[in-house]
Amino acid sequence: MPMLRLPVTVLPETFDADHRYPVDLHMHSTASDGALSPDDLVALCASRGLSFMALTDHDTMDGVDEAAAAAERAGLCLLAGCELSTRWQGIGIHVVALMPGGVQGPLVEGLERQRKARIQRAEIIAERLEKLGLEDALAKARLQAGSDRPLGRPDFARALVADGLVPDWASAFKRYLGSGKKGDVKAQWPDIKEAVGWVVDSGGVAVIAHPLLYGLTRRKRGLLMDDFRAAGGQAVELVSGHQNMDATRDLARQLDERGLFASLGSDFHFPGGHAAPGSMSDIPRTAARPIWRHPRLLHMQEAPAGLLGAAG
Ligand code: MN
Ligand code: MN
Ligand code: MN
Repeated sequence: MPMLRLPVTVLPETFDADHRYPVDLHMHSTASDGALSPDDLVALCASRGLSFMALTDHDTMDGVDEAAAAAERAGLCLLAGCELSTRWQGIGIHVVALMPGGVQGPLVEGLERQRKARIQRAEIIAERLEKLGLEDALAKARLQAGSDRPLGRPDFARALVADGLVPDWASAFKRYLGSGKKGDVKAQWPDIKEAVGWVVDSGGVAVIAHPLLYGLTRRKRGLLMDDFRAAGGQAVELVSGHQNMDATRDLARQLDERGLFASLGSDFHFPGGHAAPGSMSDIPRTAARPIWRHPRLLHMQEAPAGLLGAAG
């Protein structure tokens, strides 16, 4: 069996020398609400010089097989992953699951539950948006999705724009779908503890996604990290796309105080959006350990190209 070795990529043990790393551990494909197929996403990552990437579609790992084949051809290391919708203290929190053993364990069953929850949730969102003036909301969101994958809020946002109820996608979230609005339905999601359990018990690493995007105070963000850690979570996205440097430094202190690993990702969804694969703010000098120093991910730098942990 041909074993294409990765070009030697030595990732530093601490965040103190470089500011740029050939790593992006948070990206979406057409398996959820991204615009590129897994195949095209991998090709774009390779053309942008990435060596390590994670495919982290919302509540599904359906794109991983296609991405794995592409990663093998392109000569980069792919981590299976997903972005789980969860709840903590009534707030919707996203948890990125990085799965160095591939798609396996109790997470598979967890994702089946997420799929059902997402379908129920789409029905509730549709009902609510119909009351607010979007007729046949479910059918219109389905048309926007363009496939039979479970629907998410971005599909409804596009439907609202297409129907002329809002001028653009951002206003759709601001008025109808964003945090605390009528279309922000989160009752279906599991408690964060449970979701972290699925990840950790499946050999994965659980990561709090974009911690600066929940509108939490510093103190409350600390409490979230404490609860997350108590549940077995061990990492947080120190940088997600583009963010303020002072906020990043402060976040790094919160990670360091708790011994949490620091992950990084663009949260890429579509070309022309705010972040391309691998594009994100600089990482400040910090004692918080890079995610690739996590015991479960240490082997990724010596892995052959393709899916990390793939059998055979
Ligand atoms: Mn998304
Ligand atoms: Mn997210
Ligand atoms: Mn995301």
